[in-house]
Amino acid sequence: AKKAGRGQYRFFDQSLNLRDVEQFHLEQSFSEALHNREFVLHFQPQVALDSLQVCGFEALVRWQHPRFGLVYPDRFVPLAESTGFIVPLGLEVVRLACEQIVAWREQGLPPQVVAVNASPVQLAQPDFSERVLAILAQHGVGPDRFDLEITETSILDSTALAHLEALRAAGMSLSLDDFGTGYSGLAHLEAVPVSKLKIDRSLVAKICNRHDDSPIVSSTIILAKRMNLSVVAEGVETREQVVHLTVAGCDIAQGYHFSRPMPAAEVPAFLAQFGRA
Ligand code: C2E
Ligand code: CA
Ligand code: CA
Ligand code: CA
Repeated sequence: AKKAGRGQYRFFDQSLNLRDVEQFHLEQSFSEALHNREFVLHFQPQVALDSLQVCGFEALVRWQHPRFGLVYPDRFVPLAESTGFIVPLGLEVVRLACEQIVAWREQGLPPQVVAVNASPVQLAQPDFSERVLAILAQHGVGPDRFDLEITETSILDSTALAHLEALRAAGMSLSLDDFGTGYSGLAHLEAVPVSKLKIDRSLVAKICNRHDDSPIVSSTIILAKRMNLSVVAEGVETREQVVHLTVAGCDIAQGYHFSRPMPAAEVPAFLAQFGRA
């Protein structure tokens, strides 16, 4: 079966492959999976480049599937978006992040800020901000423990913008994700209540060594600072990139150089060890 558009399948195509069959099964089992609590979050540290301290974690969803094992979001988030399943899934992610913040607190960890991804499909729902704030309140988690990562698509939509204003007013910080992959540039950002800019890893990957400067990254950082935005670099994999980003004035780095996303249970040991290193 070949994908014939958003969430539709043509079953008369000869090129039936395993991946399509898998996608079909994934779509069928979404609601069951939610009910069985098969979605889990992994956490990737964000490191402040001035102090080299962990300043937060990005929560990244995975599907612990009984038959397919650990399934990564690239394999099911697009499908969840086209079927609308991302709406309940997104709320489940907020719930899981709250549960984790509370659990870490109970384990005696210093309070952690968790960044959660929100799809434009979620932000187009009329009750998005209301429901997110209700979940936080239910768990006794302050909105200032949360950072919402949104993409460019959402800053061009009036419903989404109203939600962003409401969340910002409640004390949540907002980050513009994947910056550099869209089309709008920084000019569009003036009307948007984001406080952070995440430079996409495709741009960060262009920083290869100390001598090979990436003018796009450095000028993005300069402009962002001029607009009072903090800059987060994602996909940081090498020491050279850390050095370059630090010199260029980037505030926060995230990537395999520091750590891959890890299960919540590994976070306390990571924090203890990272602080000492
Ligand atoms: P993203 O928001 O841009 O997240 C960053 C992705 O880059 C993550 O992939 C992360 O594991 C990966 N990454 C981090 N550091 C490095 C590095 O140094 N090198 C490389 N090559 N990759 C790195 P992941 O976890 O597979 O997530 C993929 C995408 O799925 C995310 O991209 C995000 O768009 C989406 N996603 C993940 N969780 C959620 C969620 O809860 N809700 C929504 N709506 N989307 C999510
Ligand atoms: Ca993200
Ligand atoms: Ca990103
Ligand atoms: Ca990305």
